[in-house]
Amino acid sequence: APKTVLITGCSSGIGLALAARLARDKQRRFRVIATMRDTGRSAALVAAAGPALGTTLHIKQLDVCDEGSIRACVDSIPGRHIDVLVSNAGVGMVGPLECQSLAAMQSLMDTNFFGLVRLVKEVLPDMKRRRGGHIVVISSIMGLQGIVFNDIYAASKFAVEGFCESLAVQARCFNVGISLVEPGPVTTEFETKMYQEAERADYTQTDPETAAIFTRLYLGNARDVFASLGQSPEDHTLRVIAAPRPPFRHRTNAAFTPMAALKQADPSGTIITSAFYQLVFKHTAVLRLGLRAIRMLRWNIRKVKEGARLLGLT
Ligand code: NAD
Repeated sequence: APKTVLITGCSSGIGLALAARLARDKQRRFRVIATMRDTGRSAALVAAAGPALGTTLHIKQLDVCDEGSIRACVDSIPGRHIDVLVSNAGVGMVGPLECQSLAAMQSLMDTNFFGLVRLVKEVLPDMKRRRGGHIVVISSIMGLQGIVFNDIYAASKFAVEGFCESLAVQARCFNVGISLVEPGPVTTEFETKMYQEAERADYTQTDPETAAIFTRLYLGNARDVFASLGQSPEDHTLRVIAAPRPPFRHRTNAAFTPMAALKQADPSGTIITSAFYQLVFKHTAVLRLGLRAIRMLRWNIRKVKEGARLLGLT
């Protein structure tokens, strides 16, 4: 029987692409419940779904910030049976901290972090009872490593990662899988919204030096990064959903592997912080730091082996 997959945030970007891709699967492995906050914004998904609409794809309203709407959506599914939950809805925020209101930050946390928590609270008990299910969470490479001027966004994705890491072990007792998908830059409305917000921001709230670093240096860099490393929204998540043994983490963009390795290599955090500082402000080669990181990694591997022996794992 096809798997029922509920996806949030399907009016654009990754959610839209994934919903259409799963619904049009040649092997008809999936029945997609494509949800969005405002079903009035479904035109792009309807066009992408084509003949799948009404057969393997159904559009429903769901606002991740509203428990009532999550409950109503899940209740409308026969037997409340969801095999795969894809928590995708999310919002971004970039810029100097001083230019961002606390209310906007709380609203971002409410969507990116508590949105996931609300979904899981609604869906996990059914999955536990059925002893099966898969929760796939669109995190970000920024859930592993903070990036300059993304303070609040990165914090929300770190929260997502900590939540999932903790929950995954309990879920395993009930045969429920949890997977984190960690994309680098993906060319979606996410990027365009970032530039629009940057244009609207009130830079008198911060000092001129910070404002200049952000508007001249950061935004220019961001455009370059999206242009050179940006991936299309199709489709790393499908791989995770269809895997016979889904991984707990799936990093979609190999370009970010060195960054993640640097962080792992040096528990003091000195190398990764210097690497970013040099990259953004000094434009010096990070090769020297890379070599130091490799030495540290070797040292770390020895420590991991030692720890494993102490825990009786080897
Ligand atoms: P997007 O802006 O195109 O899609 C986000 C979707 O979430 C939108 O359709 C939006 O309407 C929806 N949404 C926002 N608040 C909601 C709410 N309260 N309830 C329901 N839906 C809501 O951007 P995207 O790139 O497709 O983002 C999808 C996910 O991927 C997000 O979690 C984002 O953090 C993550 N991500 C994006 C990138 C990137 O570079 N685009 C990189 C890493 C991770």
